[in-house]
Amino acid sequence: MEAYAIIQHGRPLEKVSRPTPVPVGREVLVAVTHSGICHSDLHVIEGHYDLGSRGDLELGKRGLTLPLIPGHEVVGKVVSWGPEADGQGLVAGDLKLVFPWVGCGECSRCRADEQNLCLSTRPMGLVTDGGYGTHVLVSDPKYLLDIEGLDPAVAATYACSGVTVFSAIRKLMPLDHAETIVVIGAGGLGLNAISLLRALGHERICAVDTGQSKLDAAVAQGAASVVLADGDSASTVAKIAAACDGRVFSIIDTVNASPTAEFAFDALSKGGKLVQVGLFGGELKLPLPLMPAKSATLQGSYVGGLAELREVVSLAKQGLMPAIPVTPRNLDDVNEALDELRDGRVIGRMVIVLDADHQHPAGAIAGATVGEE
Ligand SMILES: [Zn+2]
Ligand SMILES: [Zn+2]
Repeated sequence: MEAYAIIQHGRPLEKVSRPTPVPVGREVLVAVTHSGICHSDLHVIEGHYDLGSRGDLELGKRGLTLPLIPGHEVVGKVVSWGPEADGQGLVAGDLKLVFPWVGCGECSRCRADEQNLCLSTRPMGLVTDGGYGTHVLVSDPKYLLDIEGLDPAVAATYACSGVTVFSAIRKLMPLDHAETIVVIGAGGLGLNAISLLRALGHERICAVDTGQSKLDAAVAQGAASVVLADGDSASTVAKIAAACDGRVFSIIDTVNASPTAEFAFDALSKGGKLVQVGLFGGELKLPLPLMPAKSATLQGSYVGGLAELREVVSLAKQGLMPAIPVTPRNLDDVNEALDELRDGRVIGRMVIVLDADHQHPAGAIAGATVGEE
């Protein structure tokens, strides 16, 4: 198999050639056809998160070891599986969406399909090798979801950006459809948030971003109003308040950098809730009396569980989710694509598209690729 791996943090990914893994136990080998490029991949490549005045959080202390193949928004075709996965309905050649937020499988969170809250999580593309390559090893057949009828390039984005914002939206519910929901950031996460809110019947969506082209994409996705964040916190707060008729009860921050967290908190009306999902980094300094005075709720939300991803896929299959814009990229152009993402030049999501049928002759897809280079 071939892949692009992090060999050294802060350096471009390097192409690697390895023996294709042989699935054992309950593992399933999948030939990647689509692999989304997520903003958090940039953090994985850099090797740290910005904790503001506390310095950096080194991902090496959180289970990340190199070399690592990133990529956690994966769709691919089932190739072969270990003996314990027999009888699980696997069919060679079937196209599946991979749930990447793998848990220990034993704890109460995992048993409730809330693997994202497992204390011993082993996420694909962050701890184990992910989808920036021709093949990926999935630890259990239960992490493969059927996406029949869906555009696989768009479905790939549901594994991270889709399920992440769905989990965040659930934390804001129940909310009257007459109230406005503010979505900060109109990248892959923000656009999928707008798509999901529309699927759930919410039309009063206000998108906030620093780029007009991203706000245009937000309107095309279904946002009812937009706010161009101009770098001045007070004026951004005033614009958000105006867009919400002074009733700012629900904000999802898909960026979650120091400036967005500050204007989001300041914009909250009494009784409002801010759900923080972005990993951009920095810190938020809060005037403490304002927490009780506003009766504010701040809640973090980290990706999503298998049960939530099933719900996202179900909404998409019902035709309720307008597809976000997807730009196909070649695997060999992944470093250029990451540069474009770092520079903020991407509308929607870039998805690496591999022609699995071309790379793997029909016989190989049927299960003969075990041990293939
Ligand atoms: Zn667990
Ligand atoms: Zn992601």
